[in-house]
Amino acid sequence: MLEELDEIYEHSLRDLTITPTISELEKWYKRNLGRKGQVTELTRQVGQVSQEDRPTFGRRVNEIKQNLENAYEKRLADLKAAELDSLLVFDSIDVTLPGRRQLRGRLHPSTQILREIYRIWGDMGFQVYRSRDVETDEFNFELLNIPEDHPARDMWDTFHTTTPGVILRTHTSPGQIHAMREYCPEPIRVILPGMCYRYEQITARSEIQFNQVEGLAVGRYITMADLKGTLTDFAKRIFGKERATRFRANYFPFTEPSAEMDVECILCNGSGCQVCQYTGWLEILGCGMVHPTVLRNGGYDPDVYSGFAFGMGPERIAMLKYGIDDIRYFWANDLRFLEQF
Ligand SMILES: [Zn+2]
Repeated sequence: MLEELDEIYEHSLRDLTITPTISELEKWYKRNLGRKGQVTELTRQVGQVSQEDRPTFGRRVNEIKQNLENAYEKRLADLKAAELDSLLVFDSIDVTLPGRRQLRGRLHPSTQILREIYRIWGDMGFQVYRSRDVETDEFNFELLNIPEDHPARDMWDTFHTTTPGVILRTHTSPGQIHAMREYCPEPIRVILPGMCYRYEQITARSEIQFNQVEGLAVGRYITMADLKGTLTDFAKRIFGKERATRFRANYFPFTEPSAEMDVECILCNGSGCQVCQYTGWLEILGCGMVHPTVLRNGGYDPDVYSGFAFGMGPERIAMLKYGIDDIRYFWANDLRFLEQF
């Protein structure tokens, strides 16, 4: 009986010394010294031992129990210390490491150029007029002198919604009608910025969505000279005082006469290069005197009032200003591009 006792003792002591973790140690405790542990069970067997062996047996069991309790406490302390050590090693803070840089956000290049355009027009007394992205066919085309069968509709491939007659605006020009109807008969000086949508093939030069900034001035005695002077001033403010500009006759349904404005090529200074296709000039906007029909649709009597309007692409201006060769970069969300601005 006593031999068996010693065997159990040695066995559990050996087990104890190889418990690798605290949780394994707790299992060991339960197995040996817990309420139903094998050493605890031994103390209950004292009664079954013969009279003469009983004192020896009882003493020995208590001894073993106490020894194991002590060994357990020591092992627990050792394991806790080891755990702390490894924590200090693996979770240590290396104060010599460089810190992680906080990345600062920045404005999208389109937003930057838009704000520059707002500022310039603001200086000239034009206020920003916000107009909706979703338009009716009437505002996007008809009221701008582009009736259903007009061949000019071919110039704009349109995104239609599931509601007949409701489309995504193909240009910011419908905002002209909204502004005129709101301000009539007061004079108007507004710019109308915003996103436009065209169902086109995406290439280096055209996107299905892009910003436009429309401009509109309406009042008495506004002439083509006002248009030329104002737009020339704008071009010099955004591209530099020394830049030459020119106007070329063009056609738009909502202006008469209509023109396109070119600025001297920024890359070759007018001597001719690939970007300007060896003309020395870059087109930056379309413009013209507001068509009498459009004035009338906005509520203004074309015999009394006149006005000029223009439309430009901020992304295109940013491309010229910063030498960006592909419009697709603007909405591709590539940080390598965006971080350059
Ligand atoms: Zn050039």
